[in-house]
Amino acid sequence: MDDITLLNNIKAVSKRIAHAAESAGRSPKDVKLVAVTKGVDIKMIKGAIETGLREFGESRIQEAREKILNLQSENYPPMPPLAKGEMNGGVKWHLIGHPQSNKAKMAVQLFDLIHSVDSVEIAEEINRQADKTGKIQRILVQVKLSSEESKHGISKEKIMILLEKLGSLRSLKVEGLMTIPPFFNEPEKVRPYFRELKKIREEAEKGGVKLPELSMGMTNDFEVAIQEGATIVRVGTAIFGERGR
Ligand SMILES: *Cc1c(COP(=O)(O)O)cnc(C)c1O
Repeated sequence: MDDITLLNNIKAVSKRIAHAAESAGRSPKDVKLVAVTKGVDIKMIKGAIETGLREFGESRIQEAREKILNLQSENYPPMPPLAKGEMNGGVKWHLIGHPQSNKAKMAVQLFDLIHSVDSVEIAEEINRQADKTGKIQRILVQVKLSSEESKHGISKEKIMILLEKLGSLRSLKVEGLMTIPPFFNEPEKVRPYFRELKKIREEAEKGGVKLPELSMGMTNDFEVAIQEGATIVRVGTAIFGERGR
């Protein structure tokens, strides 16, 4: 894909985000675009950074690590680090795939926000690694709303127990919820799942936890997700085109 197409794609996605937000009486500023770069090469990531994007999502820790180290070694984008612990001149990385606990250390080193915490065990391991380096790791809890066996995420029945436990882990900061609904060609069919995640958030907040972020919506359904309250959308294909996988 050439730079012009990439720029046009990013503009089009931004415009669609803004329209969707406005159609729901929300401010476009309240929806963060995370550009999903799994399977996307470093040249295209640089192109996206050049257009002004600063938030990127990766599914696999190892793949993310290679790209992040590559950008760091070239001091790209060419800006001084803005703050302690901030990497790549303000570029932020999101882990959107499942974190294996043997890679928790790497995950803590690399990611600003981990979207995919779904068990006490993983949370404890991430907390332990963050503790060692003095980092407060921002996380989301991934919720599983369908019975598809292959999907990660905690069931809604168990979420309160997990949230309670997370409250006692001092190096974690829980900022909200994330979900990956089942795939439908028709985005309207996904709407009930997004609505349900928001409802779970409301229930949990009654218990006193603050969960401002809702990470939901991908290429096929991000507009519906925004109408239902998404604060973070994770978009790959609409920006970078179809990937090899
Ligand atoms: C790949 C992926 C996305 C982006 O999907 P697209 O359909 O390409 O926009 C979003 N979230 C997660 C968890 C993903 O794995």
